[in-house]
Order: sequence, then structure tokens, then C-alpha cells
Amino acid sequence: MNRQEILYSGKAKSIYQTEDENLLIMEFRDDTSAFDGEKIEKLDRKGMVNNRFNAFIMSVLEDNGINSHFEKLLSPTESLVKHLDMIPVECVVRNIATGSLCKRYGVEDGLELSPPTFEFFLKDDARHDPLINDYHIQSFGWASLSEIEVMKEVTFRVNSVLSRLFSQNGMILVDFKLEYGRFGNKLLLGDEFTPDGCRLWDSDTRRKLDKDRFRKGLGGVVEAYEEVALRLGVDLEAMPE
Ligand code: ADP
Ligand code: UDP
Repeated sequence: MNRQEILYSGKAKSIYQTEDENLLIMEFRDDTSAFDGEKIEKLDRKGMVNNRFNAFIMSVLEDNGINSHFEKLLSPTESLVKHLDMIPVECVVRNIATGSLCKRYGVEDGLELSPPTFEFFLKDDARHDPLINDYHIQSFGWASLSEIEVMKEVTFRVNSVLSRLFSQNGMILVDFKLEYGRFGNKLLLGDEFTPDGCRLWDSDTRRKLDKDRFRKGLGGVVEAYEEVALRLGVDLEAMPE
């Protein structure tokens, strides 16, 4: 499968068309952004680590009955994915309160959330990804009620599978963001699951192992991502077949 025209270049990934209109090449670049693109830096190896990390997680999810756009690894920084018609919302599940949740509601940072909470955000950097509700999504025509139900249900299933996986390897899945898109009459998990879009803490020390290291200028960003990959047994050297 070869790269054709570039379809979209986002803050961290580029999407290319292929000779098959149903398939795209997703390239993970080294670019790293925070605060809706206000802070941007290139971090050596990050594209490669995230591409392989995402492939590993998508395979784990597939093994647990959660279908996604992921087809296969193509190169250290590229994966082949199904071409989805993306729903412009971000689905966030939180197991522990931190980040924007604490700023918005004044809840204590580190509070364990029981049950885990769910939020929808509009994917719109210019508007700083505002919090939206189910009615906004339906009334503005972004998705149907049944699609909303699927996004919530699947995101909670992902939370169960991955919370267990991280916990078995000495980490806490604090929160994460997922995106979905339509493929024919199916709604599939799209985009990525990497330390760029989730928060992971070491279970014993609560050391941050995710993009908060970049947001807060803590350093060792890619090293932390590699540590997470190592703990999960992700092969960062293997070449795709
Ligand atoms: P952003 O757009 O937020 O800057 P990225 O740099 O990660 O983010 O760009 C990836 C873009 O590709 C996102 O807009 C995402 O919604 C979109 N995308 C992810 N998976 C697919 C897919 N399978 N089909 C079409 N678009 C996708
Ligand atoms: N997140 C993301 N992309 C966004 C916004 C949030 O991947 O545009 C992830 C973020 O990494 C975290 C979770 O969603 O794992 C919740 O983020 P939060 O709302 O606390 O945002 P922040 O504090 O980063 O503004």
C-alpha cells in the first residue's frame, strides 16, 4: 500500500490516501502539542513509539471484541487504517479527577471517581474543545442517539480492558480520550490510543508517564512513553512483515 495525496495534517499525525479509497495511511510524526496547539515541539522517536504503542493497544482491544479502524503496521511510523467519516467529538472517561475537570468543578486533584465519569468535548481547537452534552451532539446533527450510546458503551468497555492491562503492569489509567467514525453502517473506534491522549501514573509513586510531562515541562517525555511500552511488552524494534 503506497502513500498518495495527503488528506489531512493534524498536530501530531498526517493522514494519506491510498490506492484503495477505503484505506488510509496514518503517519505518527514527532510533533507534540499541548494547549490546543499553543505549545509545539518535535520530540525525537515519539512518532515511532506512538505508532507501535497504538498498534499494540488496538490489537489488545480487538482481542477483547472491540473493533477499530486499525489494519496493520506499515513502517516504524505508519499504520494502515480504515477510512472513517469521523464524528467531531472527543469521548473522555476519567477514573481519577485531574486536569480540566478539577479546574472546571473545583474537585480535589487525585479524587477517585466512583463510578468513573464520562464527558463529550467538541473537537474544535479554535474554541478550545468545549464541553458538550448529548443533546448538543444530536441537535447540531453531529451524531445520532444510537451513535452516542455506542460511543459511551464502547469507551467504558475500553476503560475496563485497559485499566486492567495497565494495573497488571504497575500503572493507573487516570483518564483518556477516544474518537469514533463511521465505516459503512458501523461505528468504529478511530484515531489513536497512546500516552499522548491519556494519563498514566505509576501505581506506587504516582509519577506521570504521559503527555502531562510535556504539558508541565517535566522532561523525559519520550523516555516515559518508552517505559510504559516496555512494561506492557510492546516491541519497539520489530519491523512490520
Ligand atoms: P488533530 O486533528 O487533533 O490535530 P492529529 O494530528 O492526531 O489530531 O490528526 C489526526 C486526524 O485524523 C484527527 O483529526 C482525527 O480525527 C483523524 N482521523 C483519525 N483516524 C481517522 C480515520 N480512520 N479516518 C479518517 N480520519 C481519521
Ligand atoms: N485529551 C486529549 N486531547 C484533547 C483533550 C484531552 O487527548 O484535545 C485527553 C488528555 O490527554 C487526558 C484526557 O483527555 O487524558 C482528559 O483531558 P482534560 O480534559 O483533563 O484536558 P487538559 O487538562 O489536558 O486540558
